[in-house]
Amino acid sequence: MTPFSYSRAADAAEAVRLAGANRAKYLGGGTNLVDLMRETIERPAALVDVTGLSSSIEESDDGFLLIGAAAKNTAVAEHRAVCLRYPVLARAILAGASAQIRNMATVGGNILQRTRCTYFYDDEGSRCNKRSPGQGCDAIGGVNRNHAILGASSACVATHPSDMCVALAALDATVHVQGAEGARAVPLTAFHRLPGEHPEIETVLQPGELITAIALPPLPGAARSIYRKVRDRASYAFALVSVAAVLELEGGTIKDVRLALGGVAPIPWRAAKAERVLRGQPANLRLFRQAAEAELAAAAPLRDNAFKVELATRTIVAVLGALAGEAA
Ligand SMILES: Cc1cc2nc3c(=O)[nH]c(=O)nc-3n(C[C@H](O)[C@H](O)[C@H](O)COP(=O)(O)OP(=O)(O)OC[C@H]3O[C@@H](n4cnc5c(N)ncnc54)[C@H](O)[C@@H]3O)c2cc1C
Ligand code: SF4
Repeated sequence: MTPFSYSRAADAAEAVRLAGANRAKYLGGGTNLVDLMRETIERPAALVDVTGLSSSIEESDDGFLLIGAAAKNTAVAEHRAVCLRYPVLARAILAGASAQIRNMATVGGNILQRTRCTYFYDDEGSRCNKRSPGQGCDAIGGVNRNHAILGASSACVATHPSDMCVALAALDATVHVQGAEGARAVPLTAFHRLPGEHPEIETVLQPGELITAIALPPLPGAARSIYRKVRDRASYAFALVSVAAVLELEGGTIKDVRLALGGVAPIPWRAAKAERVLRGQPANLRLFRQAAEAELAAAAPLRDNAFKVELATRTIVAVLGALAGEAA
């Protein structure tokens, strides 16, 4: 491990000031960052511990739910308002990692966790544009069963690993950040970047910017929501495909729908094309399939992961079918 300094921030302003130091990284639960530092894939000169910052989970007067970035994943998944108002978020968090890791992991760290592409971790033997820009990507001609079928580029085909972020994308969450220039808010769906020519730039965060909170809008329909994760093992595995869905019906007609996919793209993937097919239509399984196919039409499978196209299609249909119940 490369030597680094450690300091602990008392509040967001102090964290941003301390991170002004060269090559500093914020430290949440450390469940991803410390692993990457051990492998020398991340080599920060300084760590600024932000676990003492706001971890509160509060409902505002105008119906938003504000979650401090230092809130532990377990605390979010178990919070009464999350379970009642946004069950998709509770289920997505509980589908990830293990109880021990969720007890350590923070909301800010979960949003910024890095890909699980095995070539990214293989510092010694593999070429990786995300780790070493311009080097090449060994996943493209290699073993790529777990990789992306949507939104990838000729520079990188890695998927975003977070379950929580898929639910946040479906729920139209906003990420609140603070930097030396002040505070701003970014929609979760605009927070992560597609790889293009620069897979090493993963988000719109500027150097030194800190995630302070996320905000969930009031969405009465989200009380009826599901997260389904398909993976090789029943626990302790990342998604091959996952679907977060919110479905609001009026009679048998789809009044509102929110869909996001995990395990298939370099970012939490909001399925906007499928949503457009669904809105305002009578809910039925044929329509669900049509919507899923519209979303997956742009899929560009690699050698080992063509199965994800049908798997994602069927998972979308199954999840919407479960939410629609007898209406479908
Ligand atoms: C064995 C294992 C299995 C796992 N399985 C899953 C899974 O199935 N699904 C899943 O979704 N995840 C899974 N994870 C990943 C886990 O969810 C992440 O490691 C965790 O969410 C990261 O949170 P953290 O607080 O520990 O982040 P850290 O490791 O502390 O930090 C991660 C990154 O976020 C940055 N950061 C942290 N806080 C902030 C902040 N407030 N502002 C700006 N930057 C910040 C850090 O600088 C670092 O770059 C697994 C992890 C392990 C080790
Ligand atoms: S897919 Fe991306 S992360 Fe994986 S080796 Fe290629 S460039 Fe690196």
